[in-house]
Amino acid sequence: MTEQHNASRRRFLAAGGSIAAAAAAGPALAQTPASAGTRPLPPLVGRSTDTLLARGNVRRVVICGGGWGGVTAARYLRQLAPQLEVVLLERNPVFFSCPMSNKWLVDIVDTQYLTKDYLAVSEAQGYRFIQTEILEIERDRKRVVTAAGAVDYDYLILSPGIRYNYEAWFANDRRAAEATRARFPAAYIPNAEHFRLKQAIHDFKGGDLVMTLPPPPQRCPPSPYERACLIAALFKAKKLKARVIVLDHKDDVRPIGPGFKAAFQELYKDIVTYVPNAHVQEVDPFNKRIRTAAGEFNFDHAILMAPHQAGDLAWKAGVVGKSALGGPDGWANVDPLFLHAHDDKDVYVIGDAVGFVSPQFAFYPKAGHVANRHARIVAKYIAEREAGRDPVHDLPNNLCYMMVSTDPQEAISVQFDYSINAQGVIEQKQWDFNQRKPETVGDDFEWARIIYGDMFG
Ligand SMILES: Cc1cc2nc3c(=O)[nH]c(=O)nc-3n(C[C@H](O)[C@H](O)[C@H](O)COP(=O)(O)OP(=O)(O)OC[C@H]3O[C@@H](n4cnc5c(N)ncnc54)[C@H](O)[C@@H]3O)c2cc1C
Repeated sequence: MTEQHNASRRRFLAAGGSIAAAAAAGPALAQTPASAGTRPLPPLVGRSTDTLLARGNVRRVVICGGGWGGVTAARYLRQLAPQLEVVLLERNPVFFSCPMSNKWLVDIVDTQYLTKDYLAVSEAQGYRFIQTEILEIERDRKRVVTAAGAVDYDYLILSPGIRYNYEAWFANDRRAAEATRARFPAAYIPNAEHFRLKQAIHDFKGGDLVMTLPPPPQRCPPSPYERACLIAALFKAKKLKARVIVLDHKDDVRPIGPGFKAAFQELYKDIVTYVPNAHVQEVDPFNKRIRTAAGEFNFDHAILMAPHQAGDLAWKAGVVGKSALGGPDGWANVDPLFLHAHDDKDVYVIGDAVGFVSPQFAFYPKAGHVANRHARIVAKYIAEREAGRDPVHDLPNNLCYMMVSTDPQEAISVQFDYSINAQGVIEQKQWDFNQRKPETVGDDFEWARIIYGDMFG
């Protein structure tokens, strides 16, 4: 650990200490419930019933979720509205990128390439990072309750990403859901699942590896096909007698379908089996069996991706929309142009959690690139409002590169652009670049370099 790192950690702890000490001196501690025990906790131990950051003289933006959207929003707010206090709340101690993680699974990039030290970044950018679990969002009181105490806000930005809807497969059977998550993780959310999956792929001795693809809308639709190609490339290089069976909910590969299918057929003919219309009907993680509308499959290992929904925080904030049948539709109900919750202009939602935005294409692609653009746009909206001006709407774009071959390294890509038509509807244009090329790999790493720079400086 470097001297600078140690210094940054010391400063953070000092700041945390003074906040907690202030809370201990104030009335908040009086609210400690009996269940917390009779022994008083030392001031540095946070409690959700304490007030960690009360409303002060400086207006405050609280950002929930320090993934692709959250860290970008924090950085841009500091630049565009330096008079505001910016607080980023995140459960993970270290930033871990899902984009580029398929390449990490097969050792094309290392762990350092995917990770960032939140403390160093937040100190350099001038915002406050608090590593904590967010427990509740009380919009009526404009406060976020965390495991370390409550934080009051003037503006709230939710960038919670996604959650897996295991209930769609297992209803209330928590045992089966937990077994699935622990043994056959999807590795689609930044956490330890990625490490579990990497180990499983590298330890794989042969046989059938099954991947279930969730129904749309899903996080990064092309990335499961990239993952299938890269795992197949690894098995091919190791000369394993193995198959990668892709069970797709959709009727065909999309986006960049011709590019992925050419890779499946030309590079991994004996390894990748693509099965369309494979709606999952029953998953048995204990006996390693899965039944779909396209047949039944036994597996030696699996990447079981349950359907995706907006992350828990969107549900806790009460911003999830309703389906035509009246139940929750699973995604945040936002103003399509201004990205604030439909019933609350001080609460913005960005990134993957954003729900329906257009009758033409329904949802923005759930991509880190889009989360980054949403964050920049919302930071601008807040800065404009603070300057007493009405914000002018802005739209994101999206660019996505997918590696399909490792020897030689080749990639394909897809690009999206957005505009508003005469009726005020957001329209999407899409370009698929299906021909795999080594140059596209270079473009991918350049994209990553630029966008990481945009997020972290
Ligand atoms: C394998 C893979 C490959 C991908 N490739 C690409 C790509 O090439 N290009 C691209 O643009 N996108 C890609 N993506 C998609 C990209 O990862 C997501 O679109 C992006 O991360 C969305 O950003 P977000 O801020 O909405 O969510 P996230 O980045 O997931 O951030 C959400 C954050 O909220 C935190 N959080 C959630 N709940 C709580 C809580 N209760 N308390 C505290 N913290 C909480 C989480 O820990 C997380 O850090 C890929 C995804 C995967 C899985």
